[in-house]
Amino acid sequence: MNTIPSENLKHHQNFTVASISLLASNPPKLVSGPLSAIFRSGSGFPELQFFLDPDGQNSLHFDLRTTQLFRLGEFQSLCVSEGSETIKERTYSKGITIQFKEEEESSSFHGAFEKWKHEVVVQGSNLPNGTVSSSKSKFDDKIEASSAKMYFHYYGQLLHQQNMLQDYVRTGSYYAAVIENAADFAGRVVVDVGAGSGILSLFAAQAGAKHVYAVEASEMADYAQKLIAGNPILGQRITVIKGKVEDVELPEKADILISEPMGTLLVNERMLESYVIARDRFLVPNGKMFPTVGRIHMAPFSDEYLYVEIANKSLFWQQQNYYGVDLTALHGTAFQGYFSQPVVDAFDPRLLVAPAVSHVINFTTVKEEDLYEIDIPLKFTASVGTRIHGLACWFDVLFNGSTVQRWLTTAPGAPTTHWYQLRCVLSQPIYVMPGQEITGHLHMIAHSAQSYTINLTMSAKMWGPGAEQGGILQTSSCRLDLKEPYYRMSQPQAYSVDQDQQSNQLLQSQDLQLPSLDEDGLDFIQPPNDSGAQIL
Ligand code: SAH
Repeated sequence: MNTIPSENLKHHQNFTVASISLLASNPPKLVSGPLSAIFRSGSGFPELQFFLDPDGQNSLHFDLRTTQLFRLGEFQSLCVSEGSETIKERTYSKGITIQFKEEEESSSFHGAFEKWKHEVVVQGSNLPNGTVSSSKSKFDDKIEASSAKMYFHYYGQLLHQQNMLQDYVRTGSYYAAVIENAADFAGRVVVDVGAGSGILSLFAAQAGAKHVYAVEASEMADYAQKLIAGNPILGQRITVIKGKVEDVELPEKADILISEPMGTLLVNERMLESYVIARDRFLVPNGKMFPTVGRIHMAPFSDEYLYVEIANKSLFWQQQNYYGVDLTALHGTAFQGYFSQPVVDAFDPRLLVAPAVSHVINFTTVKEEDLYEIDIPLKFTASVGTRIHGLACWFDVLFNGSTVQRWLTTAPGAPTTHWYQLRCVLSQPIYVMPGQEITGHLHMIAHSAQSYTINLTMSAKMWGPGAEQGGILQTSSCRLDLKEPYYRMSQPQAYSVDQDQQSNQLLQSQDLQLPSLDEDGLDFIQPPNDSGAQIL
């Protein structure tokens, strides 16, 4: 990470330049120096000020959020400002050329300009210590630089933020959760963890937040700043801070955190860890978290079409005469490769063949390290006799508001979200009889590319002639990389709600398998629904 000492940001940084020319006058007016130039963030946003006379009476201000600096030569640079619409005033575009005495002076000025412009974007109020820390961050210790670069590049693009904003199930659930629980936000200090476009900060401000700190590490922070400036009534209570939640310092503690840190299978992207770090760094004791709890749900499925589709992908490598070359040496590798990709799509819940089990993660109490390795024991009772092709997974999160408890679910059969669902497909299906027990483990180990290696094992007793005597287990396992999913959404998803009554009962009965919630103090989760599983 690119860091600067917090001292510089808290106060100011001084430079001397030889002279400047004001381009708006005709001919350009030359102001000879030496002149003093100061970078600072005193007005709540980074700015550059040139003092045009020695007593400091006349000065020229540039708002760095809208200013660009170009090198015209070794000793000369062009500084232009777009003119910004701040809440209180509209300024006009302006431009100057700056003359430096030495090239070194010019270089350090350019370096300082980039740092002040990009490291911290603040708006709304004075933020004397809304800074980026200079120590090597917890994030950098565990995440490969190349992965982080790609990750924040992705989120820095408006089209990907738009994709999330257009997931109306997602954004609508957040909106409802915040507005219905306005009492939890009104008059409170809020931190938006990974603010992206700033949408959740704006919702929190709508709900009456006293102040919102919108922390965003990617270049999206600049767009969030623009969006927030474009909504000045809400924006005056929002401060955008560009940096990682692991690194930035905030001037006050938060009463409530809001965030959307969920990836595929809840944990992909490893942003839950950042959410937990933000909790430990910024939240007052017993502060609220929106969302409060997440649950991963898992159930075995049977889907012959999917299995054949994946198995067939490697058939290419069974050719013995591909332009005279025998490809079969790589068939086994290709076959394993295709089965190591978790499948992401929206499937019909009638493909599930047993009631789901759940794994609860309480965001208010979980330790960051607990998310490095997640081992979930599996135990199901088959509803039908069938071939099981693997494990289907989805998640939901709870906003435990004081007024309304709202769930955002990504379950099959519920309105589809941009997360869809995820299926781990076994290269060796297992056969079960109705009522037969299926056991296993879903073991997930975090890796430095912001994702997880998944080890899935599923077992069932053999059935058929002689099974009673032996009690032999059929076990099938696979290793998958959550970072490399197979997106299968192009497949038409025929699904009608009224055919789905039975499947919904099956989904609801997931609560039967909830681990003891009392341990975590999660007594707000609804008691088990006793509908029982139906045969599909
Ligand atoms: N809150 C927005 C965006 C959610 S996507 C919304 O709900 O629409 C998650 C965002 O978190 C991305 O923009 C990503 O860049 C940011 N992010 C991820 N990890 C972060 C970290 N450690 N520090 C700051 N921002 C982070």
